[in-house]
Amino acid sequence: MTFAISAFDQLQGWVITWLPIIFMGLIAVVLLRMMKIMPRVKPQQIKPSSKSAIGWDDIAGVVEAKRELREVVDFLQNPKKFKKLGAVVPKGILLHGPPGTGKTLLAKAVARESKARFFSQSAASFVEMFAGLGAARIRRLFREAREHAPAIIFIDELDAVGISRGGDGYSREQDQTLNQLLVEMDGFEPTSQLVVIAASNRMESLDKALLRPGRFDRQILVTLPDTHGRESILEVHTQNKPLDPTVDLNRVARHTSGLSGADLANICNEAAIFAGRRGGTMLEGDDFDSALERVLAGLLSHRALTDRDKRVVAWHEAGHALVSELTESVDKVQKISIVPRGRALGYTLNLPEEERHLKSRDELLDYMKVLLGGRVSEEIVFGSVTTGAADDLKKVTQISHSMVYEYGMGTEHFSLTVPADDLYVSDATRALRDEEQRTLADEAYEVTKKLISDHRDLLDEFAERLMANEVLERDDITEIMSSGKKSKIEQSKQDEQLPALDDDADDASRRMGA
Ligand code: ATP
Repeated sequence: MTFAISAFDQLQGWVITWLPIIFMGLIAVVLLRMMKIMPRVKPQQIKPSSKSAIGWDDIAGVVEAKRELREVVDFLQNPKKFKKLGAVVPKGILLHGPPGTGKTLLAKAVARESKARFFSQSAASFVEMFAGLGAARIRRLFREAREHAPAIIFIDELDAVGISRGGDGYSREQDQTLNQLLVEMDGFEPTSQLVVIAASNRMESLDKALLRPGRFDRQILVTLPDTHGRESILEVHTQNKPLDPTVDLNRVARHTSGLSGADLANICNEAAIFAGRRGGTMLEGDDFDSALERVLAGLLSHRALTDRDKRVVAWHEAGHALVSELTESVDKVQKISIVPRGRALGYTLNLPEEERHLKSRDELLDYMKVLLGGRVSEEIVFGSVTTGAADDLKKVTQISHSMVYEYGMGTEHFSLTVPADDLYVSDATRALRDEEQRTLADEAYEVTKKLISDHRDLLDEFAERLMANEVLERDDITEIMSSGKKSKIEQSKQDEQLPALDDDADDASRRMGA
């Protein structure tokens, strides 16, 4: 009996002592397992001599950004030159601008040209569910770079961690990660031959602490390329492609206003694919046209349209095209098609001939008229409207909204802009602004209605030709418009003769009366 009790006591003591230890051990094993399963994100290291390394010649059209970054290269190559003068190079450089403009390429070129070690990591990889993991990754990235100085740290998509604190969706983990980044940026000497380059598409939402002097204080805007820039980017991306001598890259550049370097690289690649598909040995002008259309309007779709839908689409597109042709300031139509592509059942391609940076009030109104041309045409011809104009109406709303709230181009107030989200704006002002916006859109609608009704014969000509051929090119459009002009001139000649006849008739009746 005594033996049984003491055995039980012993067991109880053992359980009390060891069970918590076993339990803790199990938790440790589970955590270790989880750590192993979790993806390990190591900073990517690019060696300056590797084949995939990018040189200055591989980047075109971003002259100012290249000039600024060459200074950094110079510093990393000849630090003594600057140290003697007491100069310190900025620790942090922020490349910002629209997507696909070559920010990553620029950072890679700095690495190659300066022959420094290049550590690249996307800021998205610092954002983790587990608190502290992102901060640990940042510490590791900076530690490795410091050990291998001279070095460049490149943090892509900085907004993933650098977004302003307290903003929407901001979390505790993000706070820790951003703090760690700020600490690391402060923690290295400006003379330590370590440069941090970051890229972001949304500089305006970055935390102010990141942008203050001593951190990312040199901000370089990488803009969309102008015509000359686009031509040089096209040259870079066609270097390794056999081009037919008739291909005019300047023309392609003129027709691609607003596209980024990444879009242009895509167009060159698509053109090569089109050439390959037709069994050609060289890239021709038509291949570039098809590639441009594919990039701008989307993939050909094989949706079959009913006869009624086809007619509606034809008159809708004819409406856009006619208003474009009749309004001076709008880019001329290069192509109209009622072959479905991407989400669109038809499209009208207006391609600019020259670069424009500013738009006047009248030009914006004209653009709204072109957008409304499709809807108005449907209303005039079929007496009812369809869902096909949804995208156009959305754009009209955006333009008229910006005209009133951002550009001071409304109908009443020209000297004030009122952001829509300004809490201090009175309800009366808001109502007035809404009224102004409606007036602008309605004015554009009424003018469009008159324009289309006055040129109904041309509208029908565009639409009938589209029904027959599905696609109209620039030459067809010019022909239709000039035939319209001729018949207008003939009509006005006839009209001029009519009053003369009336006068004669009046004279005759007067004479008869007499
Ligand atoms: P994101 O902000 O979306 O990350 P990004 O500005 O970093 O874009 P990159 O990744 O550098 O853009 O460019 C994408 C691709 O576009 C490049 O690989 C290159 O083929 C092409 N490209 C972009 N800009 C240029 C340029 N200026 N010259 C030559 N090629 C360019």
